Amino acid sequence: MVTETKTRTFVDEICSIPGGEGIKICIQCGTCTASCPNADKMDHTPSELIAMARAGMKKEVLSSNAMWYCLSCYICTVRCPRGIQQTSLMHALESLSIQEGLVHTKTVTPTMYRLFNHYCHLGVLPELWFMTRFYLSTNPLRAWRMIPTAWGLLKHGRLSIRSRKLTPSGSNQLKAILKKAESLGGLQ
Ligand code: SF4
Ligand code: SF4
Repeated sequence: MVTETKTRTFVDEICSIPGGEGIKICIQCGTCTASCPNADKMDHTPSELIAMARAGMKKEVLSSNAMWYCLSCYICTVRCPRGIQQTSLMHALESLSIQEGLVHTKTVTPTMYRLFNHYCHLGVLPELWFMTRFYLSTNPLRAWRMIPTAWGLLKHGRLSIRSRKLTPSGSNQLKAILKKAESLGGLQ
């Protein structure tokens, strides 16, 4: 008996992550790119990323800076004529990029995700310490430059010195969400 084994393509990999499925039905109309407020900072626009992924350009797509510039504003998702969840697709590419060790050298977003994850597991969110740790572990010089901003936020009550504690039920719900995300291949 002959058994046929189908090789998993890059598109299949993207489709296996929730939010990535839409990649197959894109018509390359460019509406997402035209709507994206950060497209000019991306080395490849949102619609270009889809075209490249469908062409099998895995390394180029996963090492792009584009998904890390995504603001999660959802404009592309709202406007896509095919109903593609482009924002989720960007996050799917972030996950794959981390899994494959191809994160763009200049992005510090995974560090922020990891720190946030760490504090969620502890059931606290010490805003000031969280941001201080983030800047110290990514760009200590920038930490100094952010002091006036932090001071302004503190004065207006937009940043808290005290740690916010999650309620036990909120903490459990968040841990369940993180566990599910990790089981789907998310950041650990
Ligand atoms: S708006 Fe939707 S269909 Fe058009 S290029 Fe973007 S993802 Fe594809
Ligand atoms: S969600 Fe991301 S990709 Fe979509 S328009 Fe906003 S910034 Fe651009």
